[in-house]
Amino acid sequence: MPRPNILFIMSDDHAAHAMTCYGSRINQTPSMDRIASEGVRLDNCFCTNSICAPSRATILTGKYSHRNGVLTLDDAMDCRQPAFPQMLQAAGYQTAIIGKWHLGHGGIHDPSGFDYWNVLPGQGLYHNPRMFDMGEEKVFPGYVTDLITDMCLEWLDRRDATRPFCLLCHHKAPHRRWEPDAKHAHLYDDLDIPEPPTFNDDYANRSQAAAYARMRIDRDLDDEDTKGPPPPGLSGHALKQWKYQRYIKDYLRCVASIDDNIGRMLDYLDETGLAQDTLVIYSSDQGFFLGDHNWYDKRFMYEESLRMPFVARYPKEIPAGSTSHAIVLNTDFAPLFLDYAGLRTPPDMDGRSCRAVLRGETPMDWRTVMYYRYFMHLAHHGVCAHYGVRTHSFKLIYYYEDDPLPPEWELFDLERDPQEMRSVYADPAYALVVTAFKGELKLLREELGDTTNPWPE
Ligand code: CA
Repeated sequence: MPRPNILFIMSDDHAAHAMTCYGSRINQTPSMDRIASEGVRLDNCFCTNSICAPSRATILTGKYSHRNGVLTLDDAMDCRQPAFPQMLQAAGYQTAIIGKWHLGHGGIHDPSGFDYWNVLPGQGLYHNPRMFDMGEEKVFPGYVTDLITDMCLEWLDRRDATRPFCLLCHHKAPHRRWEPDAKHAHLYDDLDIPEPPTFNDDYANRSQAAAYARMRIDRDLDDEDTKGPPPPGLSGHALKQWKYQRYIKDYLRCVASIDDNIGRMLDYLDETGLAQDTLVIYSSDQGFFLGDHNWYDKRFMYEESLRMPFVARYPKEIPAGSTSHAIVLNTDFAPLFLDYAGLRTPPDMDGRSCRAVLRGETPMDWRTVMYYRYFMHLAHHGVCAHYGVRTHSFKLIYYYEDDPLPPEWELFDLERDPQEMRSVYADPAYALVVTAFKGELKLLREELGDTTNPWPE
C-alpha cells in the first residue's frame, strides 16, 4: 500500500458554520469547499476540550487533556511524550510544522519530531510576526497567513522528493483580534452580514453558567476588538448590531485570506503532480461562536464551539463529494496519520484511526458517544468548568464547581432543539434519558481515567 503525503492545514478558531460547504449563511470559502467536493466532509467532528493549546496537544498525542498534561492555556507541552510527528519521522516521513504552535517554547517545549519547524511565539502577530525558525528568533515582514503559506510552499520545494512528507501548515488566523490584511480589508464593506438565529438569546431555560459567561457581543467586545469606538449616540440593539458587524466582518476577512492561501496550496499540488498522492486535510483547533447566543469565543460544550470543521481529500481512497455523520474526535487525528503511514495506533492513545470513516466505510463498532471536558474554571470570559457527554441525539453537561454558582446540569435534545435553547434536564419526560446519560458519563470518565473531580452523589 503506497503511503500518501500528508498536508494538514489547520486554522485557529474557525467555526464550521463559516464555511460554505457546512451551510454558511455569511461567507464563501471556495478553496475549502473544493477539498470537501473532491473528498469528504465530516459533520460530527468534535474537540474534547474547546481551547487552543489543549486541542493542539490532543491532536499531536492522540490523548485527552488529562492524559497529555495540557489541560489549560497555561500548560506547556512536554514534548518528550510520544506524539505522531516523531513516529512518522522514524518511519521515513519528512516532517515540518510552520505557523502556530502555542504549546510553549524552549527545551522540552519546542516542537519535537519535525525535520523543520518555524513557529510563532504564543498567539503570534498578524502583521510582521516574530517566529522561531528552528529556534532562531526572526521577524518576517508581511501578513501571517500569506507568510505561513509561502514558507510551506518553499519547504515543499526544497524537500527530498524521494520520500513522503507530512507538513503541518497551522494558521494563526482567524483568532481574536481578527486583523485582516490589506487585500481583504474592504471585503463586505457594502453589505450587512446576516445575524444568527440565536443572536437575541436571553439565556432562559438553561444553566446559570450560560448567562454568567462574559463573551457577549453587545457587552464584552471592546474598542480594540471593534477597531475603534462605536459612533456616538449608539446604544441598545443598534449598538449590538454595530458591534456584531464590526466583529464578524473582520473575522470573515481573516477566513477569506486563509481560503485564498489554501487555494494556492491546492494549485501547487496540481502543478507539481502531487495532488493524487497527497492527503489534504483542513480543520481548526475548535469551533467558535459567531454571534450565536450573542457570543464570540468558544470553551463551552455547546455545538458551535464543540464542532471542528474537517474536510479531507485523498483521491486514491476517499470518494469525492462524500459526507459522514460518524462522531470523530481530535484524539483520532494522530491515529489517522499513523494509519496512513502504515503504523499501528499505540495502545495508550485514546483515539482511533478514522481512515475507514473517511473512505465511507464506518466500522460497525465505531463510537456513538463522546466525552468532553473544559478545565479553565472562570479563567477567561467567565466560563465555568464543565464536563459532559454527547451522542447523536442528546448532550448532558455538568458544571461541577460550586463557586460562584452552584453545580448545575443541562440536558439538550439535539434533534428537537439543535440550537440548544432549552435544557430538558428537569423535564420529567426526560428522566430516563438523564439516568442513562449520567451512567454513560460516569462510565466514560472511569474508562478514560478522568476522575480528578468527585462524581456527584
Ligand atoms: Ca483556537
